[in-house]
Amino acid sequence: LLDSLVDQVGLAIERTKLASDMEQTRLLAETESLRAALLSSVSHDLRTPLVSIIGAATTLVDADEALGTSGRRSMAETIRDEGERLNRYVQNLLDMTRLGYGALKVARQPVDLREVVGRALRRLDRDLAGHRIVRDLPASLREVSGDAGLLEQVVANILDNAAKYAPRGSQVTLSADSSGDAVTLTITDEGPGIPESDRPHVFDMFFRVRAGDGQPGGTGLGLAIAKGIIDAHGGTIRAEAAQKDGSGTRIVLTLPTAALSGAPV
Ligand code: ADP
Repeated sequence: LLDSLVDQVGLAIERTKLASDMEQTRLLAETESLRAALLSSVSHDLRTPLVSIIGAATTLVDADEALGTSGRRSMAETIRDEGERLNRYVQNLLDMTRLGYGALKVARQPVDLREVVGRALRRLDRDLAGHRIVRDLPASLREVSGDAGLLEQVVANILDNAAKYAPRGSQVTLSADSSGDAVTLTITDEGPGIPESDRPHVFDMFFRVRAGDGQPGGTGLGLAIAKGIIDAHGGTIRAEAAQKDGSGTRIVLTLPTAALSGAPV
């Protein structure tokens, strides 16, 4: 993984060689700060779940007898949950690397977004266990043209944010409708929302609102990857406030519908 990140920085350096002197200095500085940000963010984010996994495993090894069945189970659950978090993170890093290369392969298949949403919800089952999930996805929803696996990643990243930033017990709504050549999928939560001035930046790599300020752990990559994938599909994605007072987050994405087969009606 790190090798491919290093390769990506290498590519940026190649591009730099072709540019003018002044442009070169600027691009080099940009590449350097990207590399530093990437490495420090990746190391930190890989370490946090690893520390939990090692801690839980050590407890299991050292205090197995004293733990009892429920204690053992709780340690095993920590290992599983943190392992799954690591897995999602590494998936995001891989997607990001492929996006950076322009090497992300997007299949063009007819995709039923209701199934995509179902799979993403199952993936985040445990993270969203404390939230009320409302699905408003009409059976008549038209299929979109795209890559079911990548679109699942997009929905999972958005749901992951709702799980992290919106309080337990609050409602997360997924609604969709098709009009003309596009299907719109809207995911709304009742969390604190994203400040208006930050909204245009949340799709930038490594951007986090009030990073470090008691925020739940995140990488600042989830929405950047979501946007990269949606762009590659020829769709759009934007963030809005759900309520007039600016609270709540609504992520709206549009995707082109799959071409209708057969004669038009
Ligand atoms: P992260 O891994 O930090 O969640 P993202 O790219 O998914 O990265 O999101 C970027 C930032 O946007 C987050 O750090 C958070 O500050 C803000 N954000 C994203 N989704 C939400 C949401 N549903 N509610 C509140 N803030 C959000």
